[in-house]
Amino acid sequence: MHTDVQEILFTEEEVAAKVRELGELITREYQGKELLVIGILKGAAMFMGDLVKRIGMVVEMDFMAVSSYGKSSESSGVVRIIKDLDKSIEGRHVLIVEDIIDTGLTLHYLKNLLEQRNAASVKVAALLDKPERRQVEISPDYLGFSVPDHFIVGYGLDFAERYRNLPYVGVLKPEVYQS
Ligand code: 5GP
Ligand code: MG
Ligand code: MG
Repeated sequence: MHTDVQEILFTEEEVAAKVRELGELITREYQGKELLVIGILKGAAMFMGDLVKRIGMVVEMDFMAVSSYGKSSESSGVVRIIKDLDKSIEGRHVLIVEDIIDTGLTLHYLKNLLEQRNAASVKVAALLDKPERRQVEISPDYLGFSVPDHFIVGYGLDFAERYRNLPYVGVLKPEVYQS
């Protein structure tokens, strides 16, 4: 385990098993449809890559990069789009893939935005959820795991751009982000 990690919440094997399960569920629920999977950079990159390999149907992939206005530590709900989608999503079945839902503000904004672009449907797959922190009513259609209110890193999730490549999901030691 990395010395900056306090505790492993989900091992590489546990994450892989969950992602496989979610992929199978998504495959069943979108039977006969084509899916546009939209990964939210950069945190969802690992989850997205593993998840689409477990979806057994026609899938296109696109990515968005967003950042929250205001203080970087707290989500403001107003989202700046750093990288938009490559193509129109009109009439498409869209699945947004996120790393973690915290206040819910980012996803709430994104979901509304994509619905306004006249997608046929917009659903959300999130690897992690911190329900205690929610400020707007939103929940993922497909969820990996619920987590307590700690700062999580690994499997795509960063602190100051580090720890994304840890193969597991863990809790960052508070002294690392407090110093
Ligand atoms: P929200 O708008 O739901 O508050 O913010 C969601 C975004 O904040 C996530 O997509 C993620 O990028 C970031 N975030 C929230 N909680 C954590 C956490 O515990 N660890 C990391 N690394 N990022 C988090
Ligand atoms: Mg994110
Ligand atoms: Mg981050």
